[in-house]
Amino acid sequence: MRRISKEVKIGKIKIGGDNPIAVQSMINIPSFDIQKSIEQAVKLKEAGCDIIRIAVPDKEALKLIDAIKSNVDIPLVADIHFDYKLAIEAANAGIDKIRINPGNIGSEERIKKVAKVCQEKNIPIRIGVNSGSVERHLLEKYGSATSQAMVESAIYNAKLLQKFDFDNIVISIKSSSVLKTVESYKMLANMCDYPLHLGITEAGTENMGVIKSSVGIGSLLLDGIGDTIRVSLTDDPCKEVKTGINILKSIDMYKKGGIDFVSCPTCGRTRINLIKIAKEAEAALENCKKNLKVAIMGCVVNGPGEAKDADIGITGADGVGILFKKGKVIKKVPEENLVQELVKEVENM
Ligand code: SF4
Repeated sequence: MRRISKEVKIGKIKIGGDNPIAVQSMINIPSFDIQKSIEQAVKLKEAGCDIIRIAVPDKEALKLIDAIKSNVDIPLVADIHFDYKLAIEAANAGIDKIRINPGNIGSEERIKKVAKVCQEKNIPIRIGVNSGSVERHLLEKYGSATSQAMVESAIYNAKLLQKFDFDNIVISIKSSSVLKTVESYKMLANMCDYPLHLGITEAGTENMGVIKSSVGIGSLLLDGIGDTIRVSLTDDPCKEVKTGINILKSIDMYKKGGIDFVSCPTCGRTRINLIKIAKEAEAALENCKKNLKVAIMGCVVNGPGEAKDADIGITGADGVGILFKKGKVIKKVPEENLVQELVKEVENM
């Protein structure tokens, strides 16, 4: 069962409550390069990203807000560290959400000012705790950035905002350790009803990053925890979006439609170049939004049987492929035309 969380509005996207899990990513172009940032924002949206975050390290970067919003219709989040004035200016420049840790802003007067402008403009604040952001007093109490220290840091930061009647809050509590991240989110999930932004921080390159994120984010989602996700990869952020969408698809939590793709691992019975065919078919159907299960199986012995719940599929035979629908053979196709024929059939379904 999904954890009951407060609904929070980020531009026109709602997270929390029973809203679909939103997929986020972050622009990784230097913040002064406005044109390239816009281009990447366009690509992220095309890839299926729901919410885009930008780093706002200085005043100059505030220009990105209007530039991106005038070119791409997508909620935008400003990532701000320490500088409360930048947070206020980002709010005034039309940002949809701010990621800032109130504990890093300084005096209460400053926190109050940020809370006030965000309150007036209905802009949520994400408290983004990670191992490196845990306050000194908590590091002294716990010895290091343990899960308990991170959870207490999140609650401490939330209280700093609550003091000024601000509770339009989202929390993330990320570590580069999958185990620590999962443990922290589970603890935090029981202590508040704020929507939770899930992610494994510094997850690495695509190689391990995809696995760490899938295990960490996936296991929390399966426990009903999490309202928005960001996969972090040292790579093109479009890959983060793709991975995030695939995590959701793999556990039936993706609500925008798309192909559920299954394929066999191949074995000594395979008589066609199934690996190539499967990759080509997957790429050809990547942007298809139909809710269909497509199977690519290596042989007639097990193929159609194992994939009989697929809406459509191909199975290999000696030098040819067989196209089937709902387990019934519809035609034989030469190996080289298989992907083309499959795509044509899918288009007509
Ligand atoms: Fe082997 Fe056929 Fe199973 Fe593929 S479907 S793994 S080719 S037995």
